Amino acid sequence: MKLHYLLLKMFLTFTLGTFAQATLFSQITDPKATEVWEPEPRKITPVVNNMPPSDAIVLFDGKNMDAWTDLKGNACPWQISESFLTVVPKTGDIKTKKQFGDCQIHIEWRAPVVVKGEGQGRGNSGIFLQEIYELQVLDSYDNRTYSNGQAASIYKQTMPLVNANKKPGEWQVYEIIYKAPRFNDDGILTAPPTITVLHNGVLVQHNTEIKGATEYIGLPRFKAHEKGALRLQDHGDLVSFRNIWIREL
Ligand code: MG
Repeated sequence: MKLHYLLLKMFLTFTLGTFAQATLFSQITDPKATEVWEPEPRKITPVVNNMPPSDAIVLFDGKNMDAWTDLKGNACPWQISESFLTVVPKTGDIKTKKQFGDCQIHIEWRAPVVVKGEGQGRGNSGIFLQEIYELQVLDSYDNRTYSNGQAASIYKQTMPLVNANKKPGEWQVYEIIYKAPRFNDDGILTAPPTITVLHNGVLVQHNTEIKGATEYIGLPRFKAHEKGALRLQDHGDLVSFRNIWIREL
């Protein structure tokens, strides 16, 4: 035994007694002492050929809108064609039937091929986490608007780190990791929601703190809430969506 281990063992025996010394000494010197075998993370099928992982809840796979309703709970009024979903202007936002808290979301979207409008009026939609906090969807390929209102911004709060937009008419992807806010029993915020977003594979929101409910006018504020639906915005533009899945965390 090396001299410094011997001295350490003598010191531990002197200060802690024989049993405690043996436990602590093995933790310091035995590599196996820090191996954890239980529990074992369960096996799942990961993303293969852009198909959802086996433990995801599929919200839209191109076939039907069974997982969605309008905001009043009626059948989803948006249009399915060629396995994607398109906003039908003036029918209103849609939301999932199921409510979510912490989650991972995969969603693909496409701004209209026919470019019309400027700024916030071009290819505008949005993804509202828990129905309240908007991750902006906008044709920001060649369309200047306020930076905290462009695609991949937390609307009117935090601009994306870079503009990773593809051309209108091309499919784009958001990978979202969302942590819901925590409120105590008195309804006081104890931890704000945070969001990480990859836009077309590029990090654009890095564990961003959400500052409150999305507001068009005025400062964001928090109001205590439970789990909430995922909501997609009808902003009057023909934005399309496909391959939407979510994993509860
Ligand atoms: Mg929007």
